[in-house]
Amino acid sequence: MRDNTLWNSCLLFFEGTLTSQQFNSWIKPLTFEIHGNKITLTAPNSFTLKLVQGRFLPEISKRAELFLSCPPSFELRIGERPLNLLPSTLPVAITNIIPPISQPTLNKHKNQNKLNPLLSFENFVTGKANQLAHAAAIQVAETPGTTYNPLFIYGGVGLGKTHLIQAIGNHIKLENAQAKICYVHATNYISDVVRAFQTKKFDEFKQFYNSLDLLLIDDIQFIADKTGTQQEFFYTLNSLIDGHKQVVITCDTFPKEISGMTPRLTSRFSWGLTVAVEPPGLEMRVAILLQKAAISNNPISEDVAFFIAKHIRSNIRELEGALKRIDAYSKFHKRIISVELAKEALKDLLASQNKQISIENIQKTVADFYRIKVADLLSKKRTRLIARPRQIAMCLARELTQLSLPEIGAAFGGRDHTTVMYACKTIESLRNLNSPLNADFNLLNQTLRN
Ligand code: ADP
Ligand code: MG
Repeated sequence: MRDNTLWNSCLLFFEGTLTSQQFNSWIKPLTFEIHGNKITLTAPNSFTLKLVQGRFLPEISKRAELFLSCPPSFELRIGERPLNLLPSTLPVAITNIIPPISQPTLNKHKNQNKLNPLLSFENFVTGKANQLAHAAAIQVAETPGTTYNPLFIYGGVGLGKTHLIQAIGNHIKLENAQAKICYVHATNYISDVVRAFQTKKFDEFKQFYNSLDLLLIDDIQFIADKTGTQQEFFYTLNSLIDGHKQVVITCDTFPKEISGMTPRLTSRFSWGLTVAVEPPGLEMRVAILLQKAAISNNPISEDVAFFIAKHIRSNIRELEGALKRIDAYSKFHKRIISVELAKEALKDLLASQNKQISIENIQKTVADFYRIKVADLLSKKRTRLIARPRQIAMCLARELTQLSLPEIGAAFGGRDHTTVMYACKTIESLRNLNSPLNADFNLLNQTLRN
């Protein structure tokens, strides 16, 4: 399907902002196609493709968001003419910019490309929370198959796992247009296994996955309890790694903690490098907001960024959501973005958030997590099994509520404010040691914020 309205609006914009020579050589040769929210842009060569990705895509994306009911997904390819696209619900995503071959069952793999060019390293903000994961991803993107294999990235929702894994794919794709790259979400991989069984096309399935240069598999936790899929994945993983082909996996938890996963698979996950992405701290949230706002051509002041970052702490996806809301609100009311306006635009969101994170809620969540009683948290008991969760709960209360140290102390069975202070210090230093406690803390923190 060609949506002329959207593309025409882009053409008009670029015609007005570029010189006619630039417009004729970069924009005019592009072919534009849209299926649902999926936009395919075909460029005549890799140079134009890179240029489109780096310079023009943000603007096209911005316009598309105004035209479509849900955020667009992009596919950029090189080719004379657009390839026949299959419906976007097909499970397997594959990047391959070599023209399609005519075997019908393989075509669905070849023609699907779920790499989103906007999820690049350039657009990825780094900070303490994701530095290691970012460095490992860059290393893998630059020397695939030779350093960390598999690369296993884990962390909570909305913290940039999909962004990083996609950035690896995009980077390798630009470096080597011939590379056979497949980005697949674990649920789609499962459907693929099921379909291969149903249609008795197992050889084809195996051949497809085993012939990849790069396999990016997202949210592997979904194959827990799926024994058949795990077995297949185990073979694919071994075959690719043995052939020095890169595999990158994301997951919501540390390999050993995925329940319902066969130990031989979890141990295989840890053979390469396992890195975490953690919730970003305040400064990093501000940096992300400033970058996102600049990319979408609606810059915000640092004051506004700080305001949003102070109130939206759960994850990066929420930050983006808040920014969009503020942007829409400012356009609708035809007012410039200020802290005052941000406050109004996020009013409902902030109210529901503040309501949720009560100290009772924190105590109950922490107690449930460690399988102890809330009464124990408030009691005088000092055994490690009780005292440590109590300190964690105090530290979370300090971070997530507006209560003062004495108020927190009082809510924990009438303790002194110095006890709360000591608890926060202890937990902070234990977290810095990157102990399992840090993972617990992050998980609790995210659970409470969501
Ligand atoms: P996850 O896969 O961990 O749930 P995503 O990768 O989907 O999270 O990230 C959620 C959103 O936040 C995406 O739009 C992504 O582009 C953005 N995002 C995440 N981390 C960063 C970062 N470090 N810099 C810029 N944007 C980020
Ligand atoms: Mg994801």
